[in-house]
Amino acid sequence: MMSNRRDFLKASAALAAAGAISSTCAEGDESPAGGIAYVRKAIPSIPPKAYAGAVYEDSVPDTFDVAERAKLAINGLTGPTDSAADHELYWRVVFSANPPHMYHDWNDWVQIKFMEALPLLRLVTGSKHDDAVDQVWREVTLKSIGPDGLYYMPFNGRPWGRGGDGGAPYFGHPVARANGSLTAADDPTIAQCSHPYMCQRILGALAVHYLHEGNPIWEQAMKRMIDRLLALAIHKEDYCYLPSLSYEPNARYDRNDPRAAMPTGHIVLESNTRLCEGAAHCYRATGYGPAKELAEKIARFTRFHGGCFGPHGEFAASLPGGFHFHCHAIALLSMLEHGLAVGDKDLMEFVRQGFEWARSPVAGSSSLIGFFPERASPTYPSCETCEIADMIALALKLSEGGAGDHYADAERWARNHFAESQLMDTSWIPRHVARFPKSPVPPNATTDQIAQRNLGAFAGWSSASDWLSHGPGIMHCCTGNAARTLYYLWQHILTHQDGRLRINMLLNRASPWADVYSHIPYEGRVDVKIKTACASLSVHVPEWIEPDGSQLVATVDGKPRTFRWKSRYIDLGNVEAGSTIVLKFPIAQRTVKETIGTVGCTLTLKGNTVIAIDPKGTTCPLYERQKYASSQAPMKKVSRFVSDERIAW
Ligand SMILES: [Zn+2]
Repeated sequence: MMSNRRDFLKASAALAAAGAISSTCAEGDESPAGGIAYVRKAIPSIPPKAYAGAVYEDSVPDTFDVAERAKLAINGLTGPTDSAADHELYWRVVFSANPPHMYHDWNDWVQIKFMEALPLLRLVTGSKHDDAVDQVWREVTLKSIGPDGLYYMPFNGRPWGRGGDGGAPYFGHPVARANGSLTAADDPTIAQCSHPYMCQRILGALAVHYLHEGNPIWEQAMKRMIDRLLALAIHKEDYCYLPSLSYEPNARYDRNDPRAAMPTGHIVLESNTRLCEGAAHCYRATGYGPAKELAEKIARFTRFHGGCFGPHGEFAASLPGGFHFHCHAIALLSMLEHGLAVGDKDLMEFVRQGFEWARSPVAGSSSLIGFFPERASPTYPSCETCEIADMIALALKLSEGGAGDHYADAERWARNHFAESQLMDTSWIPRHVARFPKSPVPPNATTDQIAQRNLGAFAGWSSASDWLSHGPGIMHCCTGNAARTLYYLWQHILTHQDGRLRINMLLNRASPWADVYSHIPYEGRVDVKIKTACASLSVHVPEWIEPDGSQLVATVDGKPRTFRWKSRYIDLGNVEAGSTIVLKFPIAQRTVKETIGTVGCTLTLKGNTVIAIDPKGTTCPLYERQKYASSQAPMKKVSRFVSDERIAW
């Protein structure tokens, strides 16, 4: 999301202005009079499908647990929504104000990211928390698809919809109309507006619904959207692009109009490259050839004509203050999704090189903890969780595609700055709020249970040591992207194919084949309880263990087991149902000095987990993890869910 310091300043000014003119606005959820005027008035019945699976109680080491984090993230997806406006997301959360509040604005449409992530996290957890939201969002999705197949944002019944942070829609570019004319983005006669930016991610949500439910309504919606995007695109030799336009239903535009010229700069990434991801999901779910064509042509446009990446994937097309990290990283991820869908090794290698650039100090990144700055620059102070989510996703998917082994990076980033970026504790918020003078809340805002409703959401402006280094609180693009990355992590912890089980990351996980119990970082120990006999069990060993050495000891049901090394994996051979494998290895503490963002830090690590940082944060200090210095993991009772279905995402 184009959410940055400049936006923050704009938002602050908008809040101040709103306060000056609107000191009487209602608190609590604001209901738009007459309801929201969606582009599609009547939709067919779409009965929901339950998430079926086995539920059981278990006792697990109380260590970083993706499924438990996913349960909390569901609250972060459903909590900051407005029940009086079809559970529309409040995009922006402001903890840095008195009272704290969250407000609707033009950016609310990022809830399409939530719509993709929520069903995925239901599949991980089986959680029914706030599940009335799911059905409302499924219906909103269908109601928002126009007669031409695009996804439309309605402006009537959503008074906050027309303007961004107190101004015109962020894109601001002309809107193409059905009569072939172009009008200004703030034209009050516009009732529905679409943009490729909105379609790309809703394609993902449609694909998830289709894979989960099998209802052809979702398949048809995907195919029609792809067809329409291809029709709107300008096709050149072997590539195509969408110009910098938004669209009313059934819009036409003059392809020779200079305002429909080939885009440059960030709009290449936002209006174009991100489409590769949605189209790849459609292609993988349905085999629809035009979806493959769209992703292929846009990836070529991005790579060879877009000007946003150098020949080796390095970021180009800078904004003032540096490259917008998330825009570039999610563009790499989008191209990778296409590369994986069609087996394009050359494209995967391009993405791998871009990933290597992005994780380097040149970009201002700390590959040690997974801190990636909002602007790719060594002097930028804060990290938006979107970037961590993208980089973990890239690490996992490049590994899946055979473009290197980045599982250790993904695990280390997940354990550290990704885990710390999730809002797990709200006790600091009243102290923080008390620093600010009382002020009126802006229009279209709520002050109702702000902290509780955002528990499980993700940080927008963390420093290495503070959850909120500056800025208002949360921009919910981060929650949508991070929630989806929880699914990627969960999916990649272990993989099972042709009777062979591979454990790629040493994190707790329940599955149909085996349950994994990770004692890291308390103790160098991982237990694996086998549920289904496997022809082989391979385990990715911790990155601090030397290959081919004697530091790692494996037992099966208490008896020593020999194993073979294969790169960073050990192969333990066949394992029987009911057996328990225990892996033990040393785990030591060390200190590292590194400048992260703009702060010189001393980090204490145990294994690959940061257990302390100096200097400490002052608002919501991160890495308060002295408990990890102990050598015995406390056990915790949890409810495990093992879904009957699998969605490869
Ligand atoms: Zn974000």
